[in-house]
Amino acid sequence: MSELESRLKSTIRDVPDFPKPGILFKDITPILADASLMEGVTERFASVWKGRSIDAIVGMESRGFLFGMPLAMRLGIPFVPARKPGKLPYHRVSESYALEYGNATLELHVDALAAGQRALVIDDLIATGGTALATARLVERLGATVAGFGFVIELGFLDGRRALSGYEIDAIVRY
Ligand code: AMP
Repeated sequence: MSELESRLKSTIRDVPDFPKPGILFKDITPILADASLMEGVTERFASVWKGRSIDAIVGMESRGFLFGMPLAMRLGIPFVPARKPGKLPYHRVSESYALEYGNATLELHVDALAAGQRALVIDDLIATGGTALATARLVERLGATVAGFGFVIELGFLDGRRALSGYEIDAIVRY
């Protein structure tokens, strides 16, 4: 295990039964409190994707913003927020997807990406992959391409990689 992985594993806080019984929630707020660890995460993503042609970072509301924005600044490229419904003021595209209970929707501004651009999608965690797949669909509806996905945490037992088969995925720590 790399030093970054072991630092992340000792920093991420497990909260049982949040937000509902049976879910072991991976709390990333202690990572945000550690500036050098945030730098390590950003550098790791940057080194994996550096030299590849990436035109923008797309991050999902809200924890994808926290890791996506510093990476976009590090790479010197735009950051695009994928937001929950009712938040984006301009014309939008929407994708709804199934969660464990009920449905969720994410939206992008129609001019967030230009046709042919390549986007790297960043979130804190991949569980079933539903959120990430909906984000890929939004990117593709704008005529752009998903260059890949970057996650700080992968819950391997939920098999999100299968939902995203065909896409390149980088996850820093895996449970
Ligand atoms: P999924 O769409 O199933 O891949 O779920 C991913 C989204 O739900 C991410 O945005 C995560 O932040 C959040 N999430 C799902 N499961 C957990 C968990 N056990 N701990 C923390 N966040 C989670």
